[in-house]
Amino acid sequence: MLEVADALAEVLARVRPLKPSTTALSPAVLGRVLAEDVRADADSPPFPKSLRDGYAVRAADCSSRNAELRVVCEIAAGVLPTRTIGAGECARIFTGAPIPDGADAVVMQEDTQPLEGERVRVTDERVKPGQWVFARGTEMRAGSVVLPAGTVLNPAALGVLAGLGAVEARLFPAPRAFILPTGNELVEPGQPLKPGQIRNSNGPMLAAQVVRAGGIGTHKGIGPDTVDQLLALIGNELDSSDIVLIAGGVSVGKYDLVPAVLEELGVAVHFRQVRLKPGKPLLFGTKGNTLVFGLPGNPVSAAVCFELFVRPAMRVLAGHANPGPITVPLPLAEGVAEVNDRPTYRPAKLELGESGFTVRPLPWLGAPDLRGLQAADALLVLPPGESRLDPGTLASVVLLTV
Ligand code: AMP
Ligand code: MG
Repeated sequence: MLEVADALAEVLARVRPLKPSTTALSPAVLGRVLAEDVRADADSPPFPKSLRDGYAVRAADCSSRNAELRVVCEIAAGVLPTRTIGAGECARIFTGAPIPDGADAVVMQEDTQPLEGERVRVTDERVKPGQWVFARGTEMRAGSVVLPAGTVLNPAALGVLAGLGAVEARLFPAPRAFILPTGNELVEPGQPLKPGQIRNSNGPMLAAQVVRAGGIGTHKGIGPDTVDQLLALIGNELDSSDIVLIAGGVSVGKYDLVPAVLEELGVAVHFRQVRLKPGKPLLFGTKGNTLVFGLPGNPVSAAVCFELFVRPAMRVLAGHANPGPITVPLPLAEGVAEVNDRPTYRPAKLELGESGFTVRPLPWLGAPDLRGLQAADALLVLPPGESRLDPGTLASVVLLTV
């Protein structure tokens, strides 16, 4: 049985980023990754611009106390200056407006007094050349790399791209995952339950995990525990999906038919078990470039295996440099005393206190207890054997929401 780190390495060794494509920019690409450097098409700002409402002056004219200047023109944002500022002159100017030739500084209007007859008194005696002027090209120079390949598009990056005039960019695509919950006992939500049946929690949960991980999920309902139907349902997707996510039917019971079905479909199975709790029966295989994960049917196991193995694979497919899982040391908000037979990933909650985040393990009843996971935004990692940890001890924590 593989250890978690070895199983993850086995997965990552077989994943390559998807082929980038030119993609229209919109809020829908939030979280996607740039596949090539984006360069500035022009200097920014394209002209020296005022950072304040006030007066564009020649700094040398303001060296004496209460210098008085003649206001020769007014420049609003979006308007080009029409004349040069000469000695003893200034221009009324507003934030974002171009600095006229001749002027080399801006005096805030709070440091001035308007006088009769288009004149102004400058009460600030320490006017330095360049003050309140955002010089041409300060933010970026034409041709310079503004956003390097690998940048994750956050709202500011989308604003920068808009500032460059870009309407499209080369992006890694969102991975497409086909989700197939399996089990004869499963019924879709909205349908009545007959004796012995349970509702399909994994389908909607995994679909949402795929979206949270930046992917696109598709599904075709529940797969029954019959070889023929599983062959048809899975076989159709092996060529058209980046990831096939099957939940349930991967263990060693009589009705756990998924491993045999995958073998018949020509999927190369790389491992079938990983030493972790919850989650031991976890299958990973590939066919061509398609990654196949057989997740355990118990919902918490499925969710944890998704976060530890599927999500990192999705990050690589989507062009992220760091596959994760994003793991940080955090102090425990309360003590832990438990014995585990395997490395354990326990539902836990981050709490923000005065000295930063701590992590609190949540009560849960084991692999089927999805309700116990619902409040979690982290997984507390505990080693096998006895864990006796005092509050404040640094523990390893997998973050689920970043
Ligand atoms: P399996 O891995 O198929 O042996 O399933 C393990 C346990 O998870 C069984 O108790 C199943 O009934 C349950 N289970 C399997 N699939 C789902 C699902 N989609 N939603 C909720 N529970 C499930
Ligand atoms: Mg089953």
